[in-house]
Amino acid sequence: MQSSQDLRQKITSIDHKGYGAYKSLAGAYKYDFFTLFVDHVQSDPFAPPSRVRARVPRDIAGFPGKYYATRPARVALQDFLTRRFGALARTCSERKGTGSSGVIAIDRCGQEVLERTSMVVNDEYVEARFVIGLPARGRTVMAREAVEIFMEHVPEIVKKTLIFRNLDREKLREHVELAEDQEALRKKLSEMGLVAFVADGSVLPRESGVSDLPLKGKNVIPFQSPPEYSVSISLPHRGEVTGMGIPRGVTLIVGGGYHGKSTLLRAIERGVYNHLPGDGRELVITVADAVKIRAEDGRSVAGVDISGFINNLPFGRDTRNFSTANASGSTSQAANIVEALETGTSLLLLDEDTSATNFMIRDGRMQQLVAKEMEPITPFIDTVRDLLDNFNISTILVVGGSGDYFEVADRVIMMQNYLPRDVTARAREIAAATRGGRRRETACPLTTVRERIPLPEAFRLQGDKVKARGLNDIQLGRDNIDLQNVEQLVDNSQTAALAAIIKYAALRYIDGKTTLMQVIQAVLHDIEKGGLEVVSPFKGQHPGDMALPRKYEIAAAFNRYRGLKVAQK
Ligand code: ADP
Ligand code: MG
Repeated sequence: MQSSQDLRQKITSIDHKGYGAYKSLAGAYKYDFFTLFVDHVQSDPFAPPSRVRARVPRDIAGFPGKYYATRPARVALQDFLTRRFGALARTCSERKGTGSSGVIAIDRCGQEVLERTSMVVNDEYVEARFVIGLPARGRTVMAREAVEIFMEHVPEIVKKTLIFRNLDREKLREHVELAEDQEALRKKLSEMGLVAFVADGSVLPRESGVSDLPLKGKNVIPFQSPPEYSVSISLPHRGEVTGMGIPRGVTLIVGGGYHGKSTLLRAIERGVYNHLPGDGRELVITVADAVKIRAEDGRSVAGVDISGFINNLPFGRDTRNFSTANASGSTSQAANIVEALETGTSLLLLDEDTSATNFMIRDGRMQQLVAKEMEPITPFIDTVRDLLDNFNISTILVVGGSGDYFEVADRVIMMQNYLPRDVTARAREIAAATRGGRRRETACPLTTVRERIPLPEAFRLQGDKVKARGLNDIQLGRDNIDLQNVEQLVDNSQTAALAAIIKYAALRYIDGKTTLMQVIQAVLHDIEKGGLEVVSPFKGQHPGDMALPRKYEIAAAFNRYRGLKVAQK
């Protein structure tokens, strides 16, 4: 293998040459305490920066085995190292010329701790996958600047990041132990018959509509459980924690406008992920398979049986095998629920703010005016108990506007000045004393979910690009998959992974016989065995910046592909 001195010489020898001369840097170089792999060299200063990896052998890195023995610990350690690497890289990065010249960067993490391809810790080594903008003035190689990056900055960042004794051990320990506590807490939920837990003292509101950082200041009201739902749970590192445990069943969150209902639901919805220390939602933990449901008019739907919610559409359109390029608010919300059932969920989360009113409720007066035969929709109020009884699916829903829901709820929690109170007994009294005047409606009871088989003709992707753009878009050939209403997709790198997963699944598993869920399970199985990088087309190289999405978001991406064609099983 060549040495770092060979790399230095190569760089010096191409000084002032054209940018293409950088191509000669591809290869592996041995430094005194790590190996640098230059996997891909950018073709010009404006192209995406060059992809490199730095690998430190285990005996030099020196991480204690317990920090990567279990999955949650390893993911947290890798997350910690990625953040540390990123922070140092930012301080070394400076624009040294044209385009990305001088940039040193690694995948950027948000408030969630996710499995990423940016960092690997295993029994043999620690490896960071990052990018360097090879410096140029115009298109001319700037060797002195490149030498500085490769000979000073990179070794400095690697030394301060990938070697255990150079890290803040207290902070690292806190990061890893929190992840283990979160994992333990999520496991305990089901043992205790709970679907979500919100610890006392949690800070739920965010800084702004565009920032996921915690709201700060004296006006922040920390969460405090009502006594009726207060539970304490013992965690491996922190010991006892107390907070609100929401049991299985149908839970309403009510309260006046601006009293914190949606904020609570949003925290619960994000509780499927682990948050980092200091986030405020570290101990807001939800069952891993919770799915946020919303109306999403305009989305496409392929072969979904929504007859449990919608029947007798005009022109006799079949709702047992419903396809459309332009769903309405109610049909999109119905399709979202059925797809969540198909993927296998135990908890649905709904907010009136993002629901279709006619999907949620039809009151007594409207029932009198518009005959059931003329109303295709069976409102959710009449199916929410069937979901629980027939499928064991719980629901948490925010409804400030309809007391009819009191009759179908197991419990009613009222948000008042950002604090929850149990008002179940009072809601029952009111429901008994004032009959709402509405009758229960059922049309076609929801009993089974039809599995769907994606047809390969929609996935003939030779030469077609599958490309993620930001958080919300994937380009698939000529189609765009719009993910902006998939609210539990939280990180751009998850979207990058979704694009790779679609392509990977199309090549290997979509054969016209395998159901969508089997396809997704097969991909996730491969990822479990070989790491997320198995879906990368670059084998044994820098896999790009990817973060693991849940199977619900994978299914959501397939389901929003406008070219999708399916056969019902
Ligand atoms: P609702 O859904 O009941 O109308 P929201 O949840 O949207 O209310 O909250 C309204 C506002 O109050 C938001 O700006 C939110 O950030 C803020 N907020 C929510 N919870 C708290 C809290 N615990 N402390 C301080 N502000 C909060
Ligand atoms: Mg709201």
